[in-house]
Amino acid sequence: MHASLHALTAELKRLKASGVKSLPVSEESLMKLRAAVAGRAATGVVAPAAVVAAPVEKLAPVLAAPARAFAAKPVVVETPAVPTPVPFELPAGVKTARWSALRERVLNDPVCRARVRPGKQVVFGVGSLEAKIMFVGEAPGGEEEVQGEPFVGPAGQLLNKMIGAMGLKRADVYIGNIMNWRPEMPVDASGVQYGNRPPSTQELAYCLPYLKAQIEVVNPELLVALGSTAAQGLLGVGTFKALGEIRGKWREFAGKPLMVTYHPSYILRNQSNQSKRLIWEDLLKVMERAALPISEKQRGFFS
Ligand code: URA
Repeated sequence: MHASLHALTAELKRLKASGVKSLPVSEESLMKLRAAVAGRAATGVVAPAAVVAAPVEKLAPVLAAPARAFAAKPVVVETPAVPTPVPFELPAGVKTARWSALRERVLNDPVCRARVRPGKQVVFGVGSLEAKIMFVGEAPGGEEEVQGEPFVGPAGQLLNKMIGAMGLKRADVYIGNIMNWRPEMPVDASGVQYGNRPPSTQELAYCLPYLKAQIEVVNPELLVALGSTAAQGLLGVGTFKALGEIRGKWREFAGKPLMVTYHPSYILRNQSNQSKRLIWEDLLKVMERAALPISEKQRGFFS
């Protein structure tokens, strides 16, 4: 429970820093959290009841303050050291053979393998090797490391819907991440990892050559970076402060046009028409650039 609370606090701080102002939290969950941080009961699963919006500012202190009372020393989420990437060459040959060789290399990379927990998987990109559009996400989460496939959890379900709204199927595009394993976080007594954190600069640097190699093999017409971390991974850490500065404008990465837009999980947390409209505007630009047909209905989704 202790590790879970710290993971939750870290995630809340991260959400707050990325501009999230409120989160849906059930009254029951709040009560259990208060009990947990006070060192009382709080066993079992926190089940949602009536859902209310709790401002992050209100929720974080609830978790952070009593946690300090029973934590002897602050728990720092350490980002384990990662070596510099070993240069490698893609084999010559047809696309499918080159992609399979690259996939084998990544799945068997000892650095990646050493960082996944027992029973979990290194995650490599999926999709059409003839895709015009490559979506680039951040890192695998809990569902992805179990299934060994990017974007299969709730954010993935929404990404599938976004792709569907563009008149495509998931199998028509290519989907990868800037990182190939789920960034490690503390585990609880039963060994379960709660929460996610963004990749460290070292982790990004280690995995980026693998994403670049996928871009080289698939050779899409354009790239779409989903969210701030993916954009920082491609454009350079610290190249922008807020996603709002760069979303919706064409950039370039690895010689390909790059559109930066919101991560689907941002939309899951901000279900406003405004955030949906902004992401849709970006996707319309992607459709135009990829010369996909756009109907009047699609153009008017949010007008
Ligand atoms: N979020 C990501 O950025 N990538 C995934 O694969 C899943 C969720």
